[in-house]
Amino acid sequence: MSTIAAVSTPNAVGGIAVIRISGENALGVADRIFTSVSGKKAADMEGYTCAYGYAHDGDERLDDCILTVFRAPHSYTGEDTAEISCHGGIYVTRRVLRAALANGADNALPGEFTKRAFMNGKLDLTQAEAVMDVISAKSERELKLAEELRSGSAFRMAEACSQKLMKVLGDLAAWADYPEEDIPEVEPETLCAELREIRGELFRLIENYDAGRIVREGVSTAIVGKPNVGKSTLFNLLSGCQRSIVTDIAGTTRDIVEETVRLGDIVLRLSDTAGIRETADFIEGIGVEMAEKLIDSAELIIAVFDGGCPCTADDIKLINKINNKKAVAVINKNDVQQRFDSSLLVQHNIPTVYLSAKENNGIDGLKTTIENIFNINSDLINNVTTANERQRSCVESSISSIDCAVEALENGEHLDAVNVLIDDAEQYLLSLTGKKVTEAVVDEVFSRFCVGK
Ligand code: GDP
Repeated sequence: MSTIAAVSTPNAVGGIAVIRISGENALGVADRIFTSVSGKKAADMEGYTCAYGYAHDGDERLDDCILTVFRAPHSYTGEDTAEISCHGGIYVTRRVLRAALANGADNALPGEFTKRAFMNGKLDLTQAEAVMDVISAKSERELKLAEELRSGSAFRMAEACSQKLMKVLGDLAAWADYPEEDIPEVEPETLCAELREIRGELFRLIENYDAGRIVREGVSTAIVGKPNVGKSTLFNLLSGCQRSIVTDIAGTTRDIVEETVRLGDIVLRLSDTAGIRETADFIEGIGVEMAEKLIDSAELIIAVFDGGCPCTADDIKLINKINNKKAVAVINKNDVQQRFDSSLLVQHNIPTVYLSAKENNGIDGLKTTIENIFNINSDLINNVTTANERQRSCVESSISSIDCAVEALENGEHLDAVNVLIDDAEQYLLSLTGKKVTEAVVDEVFSRFCVGK
């Protein structure tokens, strides 16, 4: 494989930048662009050692640097790797990279270092995908989920199931190929029990998928309610700054304002909408229509009601609209005398929180209620879960092949047919871990990475 180089730190000004060079000829390239003060050559350095010196492009001295050497297979990529740490200026960093490219290295593609780690067996595909999740994690829970996968937990579970499926396949093959030998007959009941056990283990990999996805990607959330109930005040409180126009003239939020906010462990992709009410104002009417559409498309609805006013026909209409959706009712303005009758909310079992957006009290209750709606709890961290659609669909397909195999066994179908179905289940697990996967899938996975990773 060719020797590749890229800047592994952000394309921005910083204290230090790192240019990573990996491949058969990495240390040779390093020796052509870096001279150590001690006179030691990269090619003679041991793995995990550093040298102080300077980077140069031909005779032109570029910057004082530290060179770190990693020896195959004990490097991130599994190949010989040189990392040059220089001052973190954009120009100087580019010059060092350009020198590496002029001296035998090729430009690394996005994710190519991690792709090589995968190709060299340092990571399975789920771990490789988790590297990007670690980089993009924005919360403690998100990071823990990603770290769990990166440490190989999903891989180990998939491997264990895969081994068990192989054993079942082996038993079936031995029995089918050598019927005259003294091999115990394969009992359909025993096979079914074994397959069900494997199914149960695989299911654990996807049961928290939705909750995990919510932690990673956030929830599209619409704040809806009549005008003047305090939607914008709540929106501003959640986003921590004055973004929407807050007035006491009904109908002042006429379009949809969007903001991404963090509430505890959940990221809410918030839309503050025009108040939903019957209106004759044309422009406001468009806003109301958009708000109503949002109720249909949002994953979570925060329906706001004015605790200081009696429940009106518009409120009842809204309660009926959000019934059977993922929704939380906020009875706002709990700092004034309460006059809102919440019995319809109770009747529809809609989780309800009493708070004051203006006084900033009761937000914790809102946070806990939303976490409960999406099943975000500490179990999520303790349980291994698949991290993306590709992984989830591999596990789901494997489970459904196992289900078909169990059904075939129960219906007394020929063991050859069962064999094919179990083999399918096995193939899906091999593509999950990347042991057997098309180049197109691998390319797709790594295309989402950044250059230098
Ligand atoms: P929206 O039309 O639903 O977006 O309502 P706004 O956020 O613009 O608020 C309407 C009025 O209600 C403003 O005068 C706010 O200051 C007031 N308001 C909002 N939240 C509260 C609250 O929790 N308590 C009290 N007393 N007033 C509030």
